[in-house]
Amino acid sequence: MAVLEQLTSQKAIDLENKYGAHNYHPLPVVLSRGEGVFVWDVEGKKYYDFLSAYSAVNQGHCHPKIVRAMTEQANTLTLTSRAFYNDMLGRFEEYAASTFKFDKLLPMNTGAEAVETALKICRRWAYQKKGVPENKAQIVVCENNFHGRTTTIISFSNDPVARKNYGPYTEGFIKIEYDNLIALEEALETNSNIAGFLVEPIQGEAGVYVPSEGYLKAAKQLCEKYDVLFIADEVQTGIARTGRLLATCGNCSCSDKHCSGTPDVKPDVLILGKALSGGAYPISAVLANDDIMEVITPGSHGSTFGGNPIAAAVGIAALEVVKEEELAENAFELGEIFREELKTFITTCDLVLGVRGKGLLNAILINDTEDSTTAWDICMALKENGLLAKPTHGNIIRFAPPLVMNREQLLDCVSIIIKTLQEFEKQ
Ligand SMILES: *Cc1c(COP(=O)(O)O)cnc(C)c1O
Repeated sequence: MAVLEQLTSQKAIDLENKYGAHNYHPLPVVLSRGEGVFVWDVEGKKYYDFLSAYSAVNQGHCHPKIVRAMTEQANTLTLTSRAFYNDMLGRFEEYAASTFKFDKLLPMNTGAEAVETALKICRRWAYQKKGVPENKAQIVVCENNFHGRTTTIISFSNDPVARKNYGPYTEGFIKIEYDNLIALEEALETNSNIAGFLVEPIQGEAGVYVPSEGYLKAAKQLCEKYDVLFIADEVQTGIARTGRLLATCGNCSCSDKHCSGTPDVKPDVLILGKALSGGAYPISAVLANDDIMEVITPGSHGSTFGGNPIAAAVGIAALEVVKEEELAENAFELGEIFREELKTFITTCDLVLGVRGKGLLNAILINDTEDSTTAWDICMALKENGLLAKPTHGNIIRFAPPLVMNREQLLDCVSIIIKTLQEFEKQ
């Protein structure tokens, strides 16, 4: 086998710029290795990963158990398509369905595909179960949502960068303010053709907006009152990220000691992606009970790669790691420390207006205009100091390390962040 010559960072960046479409604006760091909470660039510099591939690497980079499951399965059987059964998919479906307490699971590959799947299930349910007249179904969504990049999904986004010049847009969506129960009830009571309410338990991409206490539970109750499906997009918040196995806690068997006493919100339709992959191999899923999932019939939906044996093996291992290593509990505890430490620091610092989040999904709000480059410049300085994070929406920096981090590493990261902000403030 030919040995690949090690590229310099500049060469790797030049190649992507020349031959790749420019659909991202990456921080100028070229990574070539990862282990646990760390990544290394091609020059050998080590960093804390504080993005975790947008929360897809909750279990840490190259987790040995997940890599083993993936490589063993890759050496055995990789792809059958769903034209035939395979001996891994059913095991994964059973394991995930019982973990999250749903009757059934529908496997896909990416988060956006799982969202699309949930929307299709919801529309079918409206026509076949609720009795909405054909082609009249409406789905309520929230302002500043992020649910992915397909044509339909960007149709109900209000991010101009994600939408512009991609029309005509898909119809059938009603947008309301996030964290606003009055707006939700108004939408539900004025239109009898509403099929579902699609919501992120915390709006991650929008800048880690945590809704008011009790919002999700009350929203679910409104959905019940008006016979509308409550669809939770937990692609980013799920799989232990927010200190619970799910942010809509209450429908999982996580045996999490912080779980008791928190309000139970059981979505009718649950969407998972990102960390279901263990950071290794794309897999996403939609979960629902039989009365909903039975609207899906042979030929009415599918995916060549969805539910392939590698994804199934990886999905099981990814969930086992979360349970065995108590990652939800760890995220809960480290998240409390992280916000506490930063809150204390912020009182001494004009550069940061606030810190918010749940578990290890957090963000700081930089005291500058949305179009300023300050957040980006801080991320560049963090990179110099050995920590990788990325701004989201202008002046907000998201902090989301792998959940396998330990306390000592977290405190080390807190001091890197504080030192960097202090250096920055002096400038
Ligand atoms: C990332 C994300 C998606 C889309 O997932 P992809 O795998 O990038 O298609 C959907 N919903 C939420 C909440 C996300 O954070």
